[in-house]
Amino acid sequence: MTENVNSENQESRLKSQFIELDDKPKDTKCLLCNSNFVLPTNEKEFLTHIFKEHRLVIGDVKEIASLKSYVNYWRVKFRDEPLEKFCTTFLGDCTPNGEPSKNENYFLLSNCIAEDKILRDELRREKLEWILGEQLREKIDKNFQRGCMFCRTEFTESRHLYVKHLSEKHNIQLGKMENLVLIDELLDKIQNKIESLICIYCEKQFKDRAVLKEHMRKKLHKRINPGNKSYDKFYINNYLEPRSTWRQKQSQIEETEEPSGFSSDNDEENWSDWNSENVDINCLFCDYMKNDFKNILNHMKVEHDFNFELITSNCNFYQKVKIVNYARKQMHVKKCLFCDCHYQQLNEHLIKENHFKLPAKEIWDQPEFYFPMYENDSFLYNLDSNCNEDEDSSSEICQ
Ligand SMILES: [Zn+2]
Ligand SMILES: [Zn+2]
Ligand SMILES: [Zn+2]
Ligand SMILES: [Zn+2]
Ligand SMILES: [Zn+2]
Repeated sequence: MTENVNSENQESRLKSQFIELDDKPKDTKCLLCNSNFVLPTNEKEFLTHIFKEHRLVIGDVKEIASLKSYVNYWRVKFRDEPLEKFCTTFLGDCTPNGEPSKNENYFLLSNCIAEDKILRDELRREKLEWILGEQLREKIDKNFQRGCMFCRTEFTESRHLYVKHLSEKHNIQLGKMENLVLIDELLDKIQNKIESLICIYCEKQFKDRAVLKEHMRKKLHKRINPGNKSYDKFYINNYLEPRSTWRQKQSQIEETEEPSGFSSDNDEENWSDWNSENVDINCLFCDYMKNDFKNILNHMKVEHDFNFELITSNCNFYQKVKIVNYARKQMHVKKCLFCDCHYQQLNEHLIKENHFKLPAKEIWDQPEFYFPMYENDSFLYNLDSNCNEDEDSSSEICQ
């Protein structure tokens, strides 16, 4: 089976010249004049500039997968067309310099405009494809070589073994391997903290290594500060998170319960990645929940005659993700998984027709199903946790 994670076969609505998916700082021209800004480094300066000089505001900037690419795209558009054509206007009550003034005119560039929404979606999708490609490259790259940052044990070939060693020998929990990406950079970052005698969780600095070690051990500060956004890029689930409001955050509220053994802090919003073992997982077909993935799989087998492991046994990780998201979406819109018909009493239909099964691959193996139906769908975090032969299967995906 071949799957090209770099999406060559996908028709992109964007010209590739606009797209720069990495976050390497790059000189980028303002979308309305010739001023240059290093993005994303000087994002704030840039946003201030477009506000003060052009009375332009970009909505939800933080959610744009690549601001560089976004600016490049609109720069070309604005060469020939006026702002009014693409922006909504709004009235502010101060001048760009902050002086109070009634009814000052401003422009808003946001995903309220269809073209902007398409651009944002496309960038997000491209970025996701790119990061999945990076992850795959790391998985099959055998050139890894690194000494443990604590005990100097040497590791070669596999990043997986290094991360496992950190977890088992030093109790440093970075999260699930399937969720990690840009691992070398992540390890550099952590090692840097440790060498600067800074705790990776609370980010306080200590006077020497022994005190730091003692602190991390006693306080159980053995994981990354979940409030530090600069770690987000190392976790695939942060690329998957949908902006769309398919469902409200209700599941998150249920999931934020703290596991025992960690000191209590209140900034635990991003917590779910770190303790996925303790988070309830939802059955794909009913309200059944359990914090044990095996149990869920077994429930689906017994209750719904859906043997997830068997059905997905020839799938790679990303295909499994798609299957889960596909099933979630169908259930959400009350459409049969298999025949795609709409039923108010979907469950009755599924049982009667024995339609707890997947349709043809073309239906569910689509890029749109990279995106979770629900925020923090813990089913996804458990994929592959029970099959470590993934390294092998990943090399075959790439050929
Ligand atoms: Zn400008
Ligand atoms: Zn070690
Ligand atoms: Zn600490
Ligand atoms: Zn069920
Ligand atoms: Zn059906």
